[in-house]
Amino acid sequence: MITCRKTYLDIPFGHRQPFHDGHCKFIHGHNWSITVTFGCDERDINGFVVDYGKLGFLKQWIDENLDHACVFRKDDPLLDTLVNAAPEAWKVFLVDDCSNEGLAVLVFEEFDKLVRAETNGRAWVTEVEIEEDSKNSAKYAPKF
Ligand SMILES: [Zn+2]
Repeated sequence: MITCRKTYLDIPFGHRQPFHDGHCKFIHGHNWSITVTFGCDERDINGFVVDYGKLGFLKQWIDENLDHACVFRKDDPLLDTLVNAAPEAWKVFLVDDCSNEGLAVLVFEEFDKLVRAETNGRAWVTEVEIEEDSKNSAKYAPKF
């Protein structure tokens, strides 16, 4: 397998950890970065694992789901109260786990599906690293 990597920088979105006993329970935001590692066994006609210029579908997924969103856990006990108070104030993205780690798994699963579909199975995602800031990050790289 050969790999290549692309990073999406400064994606602003918020989240909160409803069951945390510290400040993570408060709604707050980060300028997140997502680094995706792609893999394949057979490169394309240009010698690429993936064509960086043809990954707009990943940027589109980020723009539609994460950019300027608030990422809530589906089981957040305050979800309805917060969102219903001013629905027009929120771009809500619901997930099972809004931690750095949970988002790394989610983005991996979404991007892997998209990349496999776009390349007819020739390429895939091997790893996703998500950074909420310059100090804290999580990486998901399941074994195949
Ligand atoms: Zn945070």
